[in-house]
Amino acid sequence: MSTNSKSKLSLTTMILISLIAGLLVGMIINLTMGHVSEGVGLFLNKYIINGLFHVIGKIFISSIKMLVVPLVFVSLVVGVAGIGDLKKLGRVGSKTLFFYLLTTALAIGLALLIANLIDPGQGLNINIQTASFEAKNAPNFADVLINIIPKNAFDAMVKGNMLQIIFFALLMGVSIASIGNKGASILNFFQESNEIVMKMVTLIMLMAPAGVFCLIAKVFATQGVSVLLPLIKYMVTVLTVLIVHLLLVYTGALGLVARLNVIIFFKKFYSTLLVAFSTSSSNATIPVTMRTVSEKLGVSKSIASFSIPFGATINMDGTAIMQGVAVVFISQVYNIDLTVGDFLMVILTATLASIGTAGVPGVGLITLSMVLTQVGLPVEGIALIIGVDRLLDMSRTAVNISGDAIVSLIVAKSEGEFDRKVYYDPDAGTHDSDELIHDITEAMNESHDVYVADEMRRAVERRQGMERRQQMRRTDDQAPNN
Ligand code: ASP
Repeated sequence: MSTNSKSKLSLTTMILISLIAGLLVGMIINLTMGHVSEGVGLFLNKYIINGLFHVIGKIFISSIKMLVVPLVFVSLVVGVAGIGDLKKLGRVGSKTLFFYLLTTALAIGLALLIANLIDPGQGLNINIQTASFEAKNAPNFADVLINIIPKNAFDAMVKGNMLQIIFFALLMGVSIASIGNKGASILNFFQESNEIVMKMVTLIMLMAPAGVFCLIAKVFATQGVSVLLPLIKYMVTVLTVLIVHLLLVYTGALGLVARLNVIIFFKKFYSTLLVAFSTSSSNATIPVTMRTVSEKLGVSKSIASFSIPFGATINMDGTAIMQGVAVVFISQVYNIDLTVGDFLMVILTATLASIGTAGVPGVGLITLSMVLTQVGLPVEGIALIIGVDRLLDMSRTAVNISGDAIVSLIVAKSEGEFDRKVYYDPDAGTHDSDELIHDITEAMNESHDVYVADEMRRAVERRQGMERRQQMRRTDDQAPNN
């Protein structure tokens, strides 16, 4: 394995280690809180949990979020202008939408089925009177449609309204493509900006291990395990369905529909999953997902730039699963029987709800109120599960973005916009080889140890050889490779 891929692997591994370390440290802090003096407790609370963890975690999330709007806009313009042909654009759009809706409907169907088998709310004694939840108004579908068109494109960007940004970028990309040569310099500008934003993503990701550690440690230090115990059956049901969906629907789609090696997908995608898990936000993860899908998994940039932000906004299979299980759970706790018609209604509303909600933390609970109202269940039921939602939010966000990536692969493959060699190349998507070579060469020059210097020189040569081969392959494979 090349030196550079070792360094990439170490970032991925470091994210995983940080996640586990964050979990352990968080738990330990939570457990010790009750046994230390008031002063120490205050210190931990103020300076560690709400100080260090909070600040670094927030800085990490804000740093990736900062890139979402420029990245989505710029890469979508470039992507759409690259597709050029309106017919193809329509086809890609409708295929993507179809697969997103289909997987969401399957997800919620699966959730209802498994939840009815496990009966998570059966025999549960929760004090319903003390539970309270203030329902926010769930978006109505007509408004969702109308709101896709921004009244002011800049306002949409300032507010980070993803569907509006997507709409405006689509229109701009199509227009650039249709004026041909007259738009060449502006297209060039967007292409170069795209490269720059991608580079920014790479740089921000260097902070991921620290960010992930702090985010996870804070959640576990504040929540602990005691909050989970009464709702363990509900949580286990949600997690079971998430895993079944991942293994059955996604793996099936990837293996049977796209005919791709599933293990390779998860090997390359797992660090992106960890980012989604720790940020609990598909939107915030967009830059990372997009980079992985296009540079490591071989989806063309034009498809990825459309399907990933679109998916982060409208495709939420994990969220739909939580809603399906929550419906069954709440109906059982309140002793309200649901009919088959009610279940069908849940499938329909939850699928539509996933379109109208942004991929930000906790939004699934808000749209759950819409689903509950549709089938006559008390919205207050949400208060019962709110305490454990943060942990489930992390897991369902990881499932949400897996769906986005897998649908992108299926669509890209069907459109001849997929590069099989990249998918199967374990070194694909390595970024900072130039800097790495530069750093190693510098270290090598400074090293007085002849043996180390030699080892380093060999590593650099191996890396350079590999890069030359990759470059040659890329030049040979200019034509789409399906
Ligand atoms: N946090 C989820 C996401 O960003 C949405 C949710 O289920 O609350 O995908």
